[in-house]
Amino acid sequence: MQKNPAAGLIDLSNGAYAWLAPQGTWGWSNAGLVVDGEESILIDTLFDLDLTQTMLKAMRDAQPCTANINTLVNTHANGDHCHGNELVTGADIIASSASAAEMDELPPEGLAAIMDAAKTMGPVGEYFIHCFGAFNFHGINYTPPTKTFDGELHMHVGDKPIHMIEVGPAHTRGDVLVHSPADKTVFTGDILFIEGTPLIWEGPVANWISACRRIENMGVDHIVPGHGPITDKSGVRKVRQYLEYVRDQAKLRYDAGLNAWEAAQDIALSEYSAWSEPERIAVNVDSLYREFANDDTRTDVVELFRRMGELAGFKPRVDS
Ligand SMILES: [Zn+2]
Repeated sequence: MQKNPAAGLIDLSNGAYAWLAPQGTWGWSNAGLVVDGEESILIDTLFDLDLTQTMLKAMRDAQPCTANINTLVNTHANGDHCHGNELVTGADIIASSASAAEMDELPPEGLAAIMDAAKTMGPVGEYFIHCFGAFNFHGINYTPPTKTFDGELHMHVGDKPIHMIEVGPAHTRGDVLVHSPADKTVFTGDILFIEGTPLIWEGPVANWISACRRIENMGVDHIVPGHGPITDKSGVRKVRQYLEYVRDQAKLRYDAGLNAWEAAQDIALSEYSAWSEPERIAVNVDSLYREFANDDTRTDVVELFRRMGELAGFKPRVDS
């Protein structure tokens, strides 16, 4: 299993911090914090209340002013980046308007219901438990953004400028990068999975590739991904190259008449197979096929998890 060599609160110096999960696999997301004077901004909460509570305590121990965080920004709508919002009381909660709309469609009760049913769902249920069984989705009060923006939002935390840059739709509908130039730090949300496989829920992939190039051109020393260890420009380049490779491989098979599931099973992941969750190729090809066909018909999400589960070895048992 993929492990982060450093986990917990990482001091990037000058009042910038990364919160790194012990591993970057399904649901084990990172977060960030920028402090200046008595003001602070939190970048993302975590997948459940216990995890978020533990993170907020570590932040208060390091920076007592974070007992009252001024601003919380959710980089995107997935629960592993916003389920803990209710614990950041009194803060403005910011997201892109596209993310805010997507959050409304993905309340925590939905995931809680799937997990309650997982034991009766056969192999796909086993795969759901494999992915999300470590988290508790009960008792989470959905806490949506209080402020939304489109494009870019510039604000200050103390004297530090903070730039929120919408780069989606890509991983999800409204992905946002959070750049603190004074700290030479960017928090990328799930535009970067490091040592884990990127997951294209939304696309178009060109937006994601552009977002990678934008990060590659930033004057930053610290690049904090949504999942996995802190990385550098070469880590960003590898994510971009994965996206370009999968796009090209999927297009060859689309043109040859394979369907999305056939193509996903046929693509050799070569060097990228060492990343965790290589099975996400099933979703990535499905989303790319939507683009190629210019058809927004969605494949049911349980069916996408069934395909990923099958690639990961969660298959119906064959009695011999
Ligand atoms: Zn995530």
